[in-house]
Amino acid sequence: MSPSIGLPPPSPETCLVTSRVSRFKGGTLIDDDVRDLETHLSRVCDPDGYRPGRCPRCGHGMLHVHCYPERRPRGELGLPAVVRIIQYVCAAPECGATWRILPMFLARHLWRAWKTVERVVMPAGVPGSAAAPPIPARTEQRWRARFAASARMLVVLLAASGGVALEALASRVGLDASRAKLADAHAEAARVAPGARLAALAEQVHRLERGLRLM
Ligand SMILES: [Zn+2]
Repeated sequence: MSPSIGLPPPSPETCLVTSRVSRFKGGTLIDDDVRDLETHLSRVCDPDGYRPGRCPRCGHGMLHVHCYPERRPRGELGLPAVVRIIQYVCAAPECGATWRILPMFLARHLWRAWKTVERVVMPAGVPGSAAAPPIPARTEQRWRARFAASARMLVVLLAASGGVALEALASRVGLDASRAKLADAHAEAARVAPGARLAALAEQVHRLERGLRLM
């Protein structure tokens, strides 16, 4: 039995409760249609493949390809060492916001695919990756701590989302839920398959409050 049973989960690290919306001109957008490498590769080599219809900052309808930043997701078989993503820049001279588009399967900030993280923190049902390089114990520890931390801020966000299903989810898990509990409940409610559960919740959170992190 965990000694923490009966107590609310611990507060998350600052990086998990800090929104980036107002501090940055532009940022990351997550494309929830892109769930595998093959789809990503076909989209990223086409300048229009990921192009947003409008600049999320100013609403301008023209964005140009700006550059191709690289992501290096470690430790997931089936993903290359380097995954190129695409960044657009808003053509409105008074705006100039830049937007990186991330496929749904890559975790922001974690240098990993979401599936790799999910295999550690909610392994039930996630397809194994037996020959994948082991994850450092300290990394695993950090992920577990974040997953066990309070989901209060995320639950408040869902409760205020205006979506019936999300509000029901928020009231079901309650303000004292951990991120683990929220991820479980979300996967069940949205019927997300193992291997895509963290990606789905992270994308949902990011959509409601850009830059807010699940992990
Ligand atoms: Zn703009």
